Amino acid sequence: MSSATPSRIVIVAGAGIGGLTAALALARSGFRVTVLEQAERLEETGAGIQLSPNATRILIDLGLGERLRPHVVAPAGLRVLSARSGREILRMPLGVAAAQRYGAPYWMIHRGDLQAALAAAVGQELDISLKLGMRMEDFVTHPNGVTVSARGSTGLWDERGHALIAADGLWSTSRARLGSTDAPRFSGRTAWRALIPAKDVAPEFREPVIQLWLGRDAHLVHYPVKGGKLINVVVITLDNWNEPGWSEPAARGELLPRLPTARWAPRARALVHYPEAWLKWALYDRRPLMNWSQGSAALLGDAAHPMLPFLAQGAAMAIEDAAVAAQCLARMPDDAAGAMKTYTAVRRARTRKVQRQAAKNGERYHLAGLPAMLRNAAMRVIGGEQLLHRYDWLYDWRPPAA
Ligand SMILES: Cc1cc2nc3c(=O)[nH]c(=O)nc-3n(C[C@H](O)[C@H](O)[C@H](O)COP(=O)(O)OP(=O)(O)OC[C@H]3O[C@@H](n4cnc5c(N)ncnc54)[C@H](O)[C@@H]3O)c2cc1C
Repeated sequence: MSSATPSRIVIVAGAGIGGLTAALALARSGFRVTVLEQAERLEETGAGIQLSPNATRILIDLGLGERLRPHVVAPAGLRVLSARSGREILRMPLGVAAAQRYGAPYWMIHRGDLQAALAAAVGQELDISLKLGMRMEDFVTHPNGVTVSARGSTGLWDERGHALIAADGLWSTSRARLGSTDAPRFSGRTAWRALIPAKDVAPEFREPVIQLWLGRDAHLVHYPVKGGKLINVVVITLDNWNEPGWSEPAARGELLPRLPTARWAPRARALVHYPEAWLKWALYDRRPLMNWSQGSAALLGDAAHPMLPFLAQGAAMAIEDAAVAAQCLARMPDDAAGAMKTYTAVRRARTRKVQRQAAKNGERYHLAGLPAMLRNAAMRVIGGEQLLHRYDWLYDWRPPAA
């Protein structure tokens, strides 16, 4: 048991993007933080990730800008293409346009670089203790806070804290402890991902642009990461394969038949043809929750509102949660339960809307025939500039004032 004053320690379970951001935000708000992570070491593997201005603003405010900048690529825009014809449907400006409109940049980054920057910042923060190889097993909330039990190689560990932030991801077990009995829902889709050296691909694929190819029952997204050295490629297809996990090895021969020549332009197929080895993961979400706190414990990130990746917002929502949870705890220092309730109330409508919009995009992206032609025509009428304005509600978000 820690000898520190329990009232000021916040325990965070899970050192993913959400948990690490929460730890930094809490430490900057004057709390001491213990982060429990079941993995023995923080993985620096993974694929690319898009960070929209609503997320980069928070990361920059937390002092991560200088650490992240050497690793990011700022996309000039989002280019939407028809998979069948290979023709551009629209180009939405990002880059300078987004930075000026939202006061924060749009970035593309390798997930490992983001995780490493967060971990390095956490490592330099004296008020954060990161305990790797430590799995949270249970917690009990009580009027004075929360008691958390965890297990590691040295045996059982427990600690009393002011509050618990459970950022334990899609397969969260904390969620059930807070009263939710639903299981993750398989979406019937698989994400296939690969990283290709930029020097090996045609110049059009090296452009600092997010390229989104819309096809029947499948779509392809690619953009440069690692400061432009690698191209991150993700293909989403309909699939029955539903094993949990992030990194199941897959072969090109499995993927290519899902993108038939009759429906996929040769340029897109050439890119997908390049990597021999792929990793795949089955896509899940969960139904939106009305409430995800109980006393002084609350969920954060994918544990609270996992979503399909078709709006590129899962990590962004975890980062926003982190800012709001820390803000609520700091503003109600003597009432952690009230702070956690307020945090959930503040986040509910927004995360629900983002979950819904992400699922809708999944449907829109995979249309075929006349509905696909109507979608493309509507996009052309709206145009890239207006499309960006339609995302103001998403990208222009800031943590609410007091
Ligand atoms: C194909 C794909 C593309 C995506 N692209 C984007 C994108 O472009 N932009 C974006 O914003 N989001 C994107 N996302 C979503 C994003 O990856 C997730 O929303 C985000 O990583 C969730 O972070 P988290 O910290 O909530 O959870 P996780 O990253 O899952 O972290 C949970 C952590 O908790 C630990 N843990 C679990 N149980 C315990 C326990 N009992 N005790 C201790 N530790 C525990 C785990 O080991 C893990 O480290 C994408 C997702 C997918 C699938």
